[in-house]
Amino acid sequence: MILYDLQCDKNHKFECWFASSTKYEEQLKNKMIICPYCNSTKVQKSLMAPNINTKSSSKNSKKNNKKKLAQDNLENQIKKFRKYIEKNTDNVGKNFAEEARKIYYGETKSRPIRGESTEKEAQELAEEGIQFSRLPWYAKEDA
Ligand SMILES: [Zn+2]
Repeated sequence: MILYDLQCDKNHKFECWFASSTKYEEQLKNKMIICPYCNSTKVQKSLMAPNINTKSSSKNSKKNNKKKLAQDNLENQIKKFRKYIEKNTDNVGKNFAEEARKIYYGETKSRPIRGESTEKEAQELAEEGIQFSRLPWYAKEDA
């Protein structure tokens, strides 16, 4: 048995089983293949891939792949950025707000630092005009 996707002259698509491709040719010639929608006998093999569902799902997965690729790219960039930050900054951990303040007021050697701060600490730093950036992965770890 062989399954064909068929199409009539009005572009109706339907599937039909045949004993063989020869039988298909034979039935086609004898106008025994009839469009179930409009009874047309002007039928030919559809140009569509054999299974419409497969085609649409592969299209979707391609789209998802693209999305995933973009996400991977972003994650890679964040990873690179994170490496860079970790290499070039001092980890002061939970003392971040305190250290940032000390640096800002010149109480300690100025250097790039990274660490954690609470929402409240971050707000206070901002109010004092101390510049800092939020790093995406801390937010991610919190989530
Ligand atoms: Zn038709």
